[in-house]
Amino acid sequence: MRKPIIVGNWKMNKTIAETKAFVEAVDGYCHDNADWGVATPYLALQTAKENAKNLLIAAENCHFENNGAFTGEISVDMLKEIGVEWVILGHSERRQYFGETDETVNKKMLQVLKNDLTPIVCVGETLEEYEAGTTKEVCKTQTVAAFKDVCPACASRTVIAYEPVWAIGTGKTATNEIAQDVCAYIRSVVAELYGPEVAEKVRIQYGGSVKPEGLKELLEQPDIDGALVGGASLVEDSYKAMIDALR
Ligand code: PGA
Repeated sequence: MRKPIIVGNWKMNKTIAETKAFVEAVDGYCHDNADWGVATPYLALQTAKENAKNLLIAAENCHFENNGAFTGEISVDMLKEIGVEWVILGHSERRQYFGETDETVNKKMLQVLKNDLTPIVCVGETLEEYEAGTTKEVCKTQTVAAFKDVCPACASRTVIAYEPVWAIGTGKTATNEIAQDVCAYIRSVVAELYGPEVAEKVRIQYGGSVKPEGLKELLEQPDIDGALVGGASLVEDSYKAMIDALR
C-alpha cells in the first residue's frame, strides 16, 4: 500500500513570520493517514523545519552542483545543513520562466538522490500539448529524461507529480478520470524503465487547482497517491480542510 502524500507548494508566498504562524497552526493538526508537507521559499525553510514535527518541509528547487559560481542558487549541501530532506524539481513554472529543461531536471534528480534527499519531480503538458492530444507523449519524454541514470532503489523512493500546466492556478482541474489515466500511464512508463516492483512503489501525485473538496475522491483513484497543492495550501483553514478530508 502506498501512503498518500499531500504537499503544499507555496511558490513565492509567505514571509518567515507567516511561515512560522502557519506551521504552528497546522503541524499538530496532521494525522498519520497521509504524509503532509509544505514546500516553502528558501528563506523560510529553516524556520519551517524548526517548528515542524509532523509536516515534511520541502525546498522548491535546488542547484545540481555542490557549490560554485552560480549567483542566486542554493545547493543540496545548504539544504541538508538545515535538515531539509525533500525538494520539488522541474515544476512547470521553473520550466516556463526560469529555463529549466529535461536535462537540468535530470542533473538535479541525480544530485538530490545521491545526497539521500527525496525529489518530487513534476511532469505535465501545456494546454497546447493537451489540445494536440500529446499529453502522454510529453509526460513520457519528461519522465524518461528525469530518470536517466537514476538507479532502481533511488527511483522507487521518488515522488512524481503529474501537473497539467493548463490546470495550475486556473481553477480548471483535470477530471479524476483524466488524472487517473495519465497517472496510470506514467506508472507504466516507470514500469518500462524499472519493472513492476519499482513502479508499484513510486508515489504519483496529481497537481493543478486541487481543493479540499474532491481531494478524497481524487485519492480514491488507484494510481493517484497524493496531491501537490498550490493555492489551497496557503491558507491554514483550507490546508486543515484537506487534512480533515482524509480523516
Ligand atoms: P495550484 O498549483 O494548486 O494553485 O493550481 C499547483 C502547483 O503549481 O503545484
